[in-house]
Amino acid sequence: MRLSSSFLPTLKEVPAEAQIASHRLMLRTGMVRQMSSGIYAWLPAGLRVLNKIADIVRAEQDAINAQEVLMPTLQSADLWKRSGRYDAYGPEMLRIVDRHKRDLLYGPTNEEMITDIFDQFVTSYKGLPALLYQIQWKFRDEIRPRFGVMRGREFYMKDGYSFDADYDSAVVTYHKMMLAYLRTFQRIGVKAIPMLADTGPIGGDLSHEFIILAPTGESGIFFDSAFAEQNWLEMPVDIEDKNSLASFFTRMTSFYAATDEKHDEAEWEKVPQERKCEGRGIEVGQIFYFGTKYTESMDVSVAGPDSKKLYPHMGSYGIGVSRLVGAIIESSHDDNGIIWPDNVAPFKAVIINLGMKDQACKDVCESLYQTDPDNFLYDDRDERAGAKFADADLMGHPWQIIVGPRGVAQNIVEIKRRKTGMRAEVPVDQIMEYMASHQD
Ligand code: ATP
Ligand code: MG
Repeated sequence: MRLSSSFLPTLKEVPAEAQIASHRLMLRTGMVRQMSSGIYAWLPAGLRVLNKIADIVRAEQDAINAQEVLMPTLQSADLWKRSGRYDAYGPEMLRIVDRHKRDLLYGPTNEEMITDIFDQFVTSYKGLPALLYQIQWKFRDEIRPRFGVMRGREFYMKDGYSFDADYDSAVVTYHKMMLAYLRTFQRIGVKAIPMLADTGPIGGDLSHEFIILAPTGESGIFFDSAFAEQNWLEMPVDIEDKNSLASFFTRMTSFYAATDEKHDEAEWEKVPQERKCEGRGIEVGQIFYFGTKYTESMDVSVAGPDSKKLYPHMGSYGIGVSRLVGAIIESSHDDNGIIWPDNVAPFKAVIINLGMKDQACKDVCESLYQTDPDNFLYDDRDERAGAKFADADLMGHPWQIIVGPRGVAQNIVEIKRRKTGMRAEVPVDQIMEYMASHQD
């Protein structure tokens, strides 16, 4: 994308209500604009990040054979009356009446709807297990929307749902999902640590929250730093083999990790002193096993092997896709701006042209840009060098390729890694190779 002709507005003045760095940086870099309290428009830079996160989430869900669906944002109140949650959910639910005076609501989550869909199509235990997910907007009328997209009212969520024949099989699904989540967050480039959690209004017996370390987070956390060193992408786990999944899960839970709600001093004492990490964190996902809570309350059953009624055991699995955009920035920025992890950055690199009047500079920039125009941002504005550098740091592109007349005369450009500040002079024809081999 060429910066001179793109819609990537940056702001000098930041609205005073932005209390934390990620919110300020998202506004300053023109990623989002608040349209009303807790409701945001996503502009090109923000949307690119949102879509990249969603793509990674999708790929890892597909890898455990979850199938994508898309349910409507508006739901009928009748569905929620069947489960008993219509009254229980409270003022966070946005209730709407249509022209025929029928009660609707903007979905805050979709357990009821997916259970109804399942009910329409699956009549026998032979249709189990079933694992479905969607990535769709949700609405919760939060009493105090704040921190930008981190606690919005309208937000983008991956929500998955599983149906299994019994407890043992539901636990296998839970383990698969745990693995998919660890891999998802690792690919996104954040350390999200699963912590045993309370199940809250969803109900149920088994739940983990995934928490990203950040000092402005709402949860106090305690964890063993050995956890963060694990490479879940390289760990050989056979998702078709329940023993392989169970041993992965045992290994994962062998590292102490708890929010302050679930913190256990006696267990904490067993963690070697040098591995103890304490801090605050942001919840970016949560998974639940809740058994037959909805299938029983909505009377959704299948015929079991003995022809008796079988109420499937369910789980649900959320990832806050739009919250992640803020959470990633919250855990990865400095005084100059955002530091994007490579896999979710809006652009892989910015090409900074310091010789707008120099034909050789322009030629080098143009040919570099053409090697990957979708992933490169070309700063071809008629601006001072200082302004271009400041914007490049602010927007947080993983690489800056700096093209100036003196270097170009020797066929050399300068490259800067945003994350480490490392700089190097690299021959023009080796840029792509250089970036690929210097990922740290
Ligand atoms: P919180 O405790 O932060 O209110 P929750 O536990 O109510 O969140 P879940 O029902 O577990 O949320 O939803 C799954 C994920 O959706 C959360 O882990 C979070 O990342 C995201 N999420 C929930 N509420 C919001 C919100 N108001 N704005 C943005 N993301 C949200
Ligand atoms: Mg939660």
